[in-house]
Amino acid sequence: MSPVGPRAWAQWLGRALEATLLPPTCGGCGRRGAWLCPACAAALRPVPGPLCRCGGRSGQSGATCPVCASWPPALGPVRAAFVFEGPLRRSIHRFKYRGEHARGRYLGELLAGCAETTLQGQLPDLLLPIPLHPRRLRERGFNQAQILAEAVARRLDVRIGEGLLRVVDTRAQVGLDFAGRRANMAGAFQCVTPGVAGASVLLIDDVVTTGATMEAAGLALLAAGAQRVRGLALARGV
Ligand SMILES: [Zn+2]
Ligand SMILES: [Zn+2]
Repeated sequence: MSPVGPRAWAQWLGRALEATLLPPTCGGCGRRGAWLCPACAAALRPVPGPLCRCGGRSGQSGATCPVCASWPPALGPVRAAFVFEGPLRRSIHRFKYRGEHARGRYLGELLAGCAETTLQGQLPDLLLPIPLHPRRLRERGFNQAQILAEAVARRLDVRIGEGLLRVVDTRAQVGLDFAGRRANMAGAFQCVTPGVAGASVLLIDDVVTTGATMEAAGLALLAAGAQRVRGLALARGV
């Protein structure tokens, strides 16, 4: 057995208290006993295809939608497990905005299952959760993408890298179209990740809407020498 430090004990104690004080309730309907009850779990909807590299619906003529035809070949595909709606949407909100970490770990397991089927054995060298800006991280206290990535890392046995930085405190993207989001996100990330040169990276996020955030992070990784960048999110708006 490996030695257990005080920090690990504190984390174990925190989880034990959380499990006692916050027994699982369904994120969809609130019923006790599971993080998603059977009826709400059955309502999860995979993202309908055919899909573009950005994870959105592809154009009529081919595999690339009009808005991301300019993505460099090394960027993408971005895939999402489920449509951002209903019980999953409510679950993600409870995790992010009410700080329900145990629910986040359950959602991470859902994402890890999707990662196994999506990657089809082509494992990345590194996982990188999309970072929050430090100001946002202080407000929220945790990065939801980090908690999701930890579950994926355990399942795939791939390590989580560090050093992808969000250097611009971008404004909220609600109401912006892809061009607006792309302009808003341009230059938002910097990559000083050790070992990124020549590496295949899988970016992890909770929700992908247009792919503009994944694109901006991916471009920072490619600029730092990453060989290939893919993206995986738990949910996608359609
Ligand atoms: Zn339910
Ligand atoms: Zn696209």
